[in-house]
Amino acid sequence: MGQVLNQARKIPFWAERLKNISPELGPFLQMAKIPLLTKRDLLAEQALHPPYGRLFSQTEKGLCRYTQTSGTSGHTLRWLDDSASWEAMLECWAMCYELAGVNGSDRLFFPFSFGPFLGFWTAFEAAARLGVLSIPGGGLSSEARLRMAFEVDASVLLGTPSYLIHLGEMAKLQGAKVPKPRLLIVAGEPGGSIPATRQRLEKLWGARVIDHAGMTEVGPTTVECAESPGGFHLLESMYYPEILDPQTGQEVDQGELILTNLKRLSGPVIRYRTGDLVARDRDPCPCGFGGLKLKGGILGRLDDMVFIRGNNFHPQTLEAILFELPELAEYRAIIHQSGPMARLEVLVEPRPGIDPLALVEAADSAIRERCLFRAEIRAVEVGSLIPAELKARRHSVQG
Ligand SMILES: [Zn+2]
Repeated sequence: MGQVLNQARKIPFWAERLKNISPELGPFLQMAKIPLLTKRDLLAEQALHPPYGRLFSQTEKGLCRYTQTSGTSGHTLRWLDDSASWEAMLECWAMCYELAGVNGSDRLFFPFSFGPFLGFWTAFEAAARLGVLSIPGGGLSSEARLRMAFEVDASVLLGTPSYLIHLGEMAKLQGAKVPKPRLLIVAGEPGGSIPATRQRLEKLWGARVIDHAGMTEVGPTTVECAESPGGFHLLESMYYPEILDPQTGQEVDQGELILTNLKRLSGPVIRYRTGDLVARDRDPCPCGFGGLKLKGGILGRLDDMVFIRGNNFHPQTLEAILFELPELAEYRAIIHQSGPMARLEVLVEPRPGIDPLALVEAADSAIRERCLFRAEIRAVEVGSLIPAELKARRHSVQG
């Protein structure tokens, strides 16, 4: 922690933020005085000093890696790393693989194109470094990816939950000559922590789901272990975590996850508000990995919460409800906020051969029962809601 603070003082953005905090205090006393950092702060700094802001190491040359956020919220955050910081993230992934039970005889298949997102660049490089066969599947159609994964006998597939569901549905229709992975490592969307989505994936592929989470500006932070389905280990040797009540800022067992990066020193983030709602699990894990464990993975995003017809509504809830319906292939939800009251519109896509009206009725009663309000539900044609291979957005807000 002391090293992070010393390094941060050499970086203009942080030097300003820390100028009233005495370095004479112990690192944890200093920490407690540092204001929480938000993504908005980082974006504002980059807008003020484009293109990167004064967020990165100035004294040493060697910022050699560029990544950026997907900009799903409308703003792209650019990030730079030197080789030591990049190495630290590869170390994170080495831990993730160990916890997931990936071993030297596995064949990892990455069925997506490598864009400017941190996502699986680090996952791919770390696996290759560990001596695990890592196979890129970018620049191909979904059909070609399935064929290739079968031909190389992929034992682990990595991807977003929605894209692996899409591939799994295709594989099911195809029947023969499809890969039979033993593990699916998913990230990029909340689905891996939503029981109905996990079950759907595990049933489609006959493989175990391992959920993982990370953020471009922080790094690969959490992973599920092979022995504790649905729980997340935070890689505590790499990050200093706090769980705070978003209203009061008090330390709590269930609240917002706040992270400080301990090893990514070329661009530190200190007391970063991740926006993720988490719950501390005090029971030790059978795998023996120490540090903070999170019950149920990431429970939701603070900024996604909306108020519909007198109810707090979280879009993640909708995924949990709708993916339990066997008739449903995909869905999209639109929250309309222009009128006097917010309303929810849901487009549902039936599986082939399913009566669209039966699906609409099933979705209607499931939402009414669990959310206590009524949504406007419409069926769309089979095959019309194909998910993107990266970060599908099932929910949008209008008005
Ligand atoms: Zn564990």
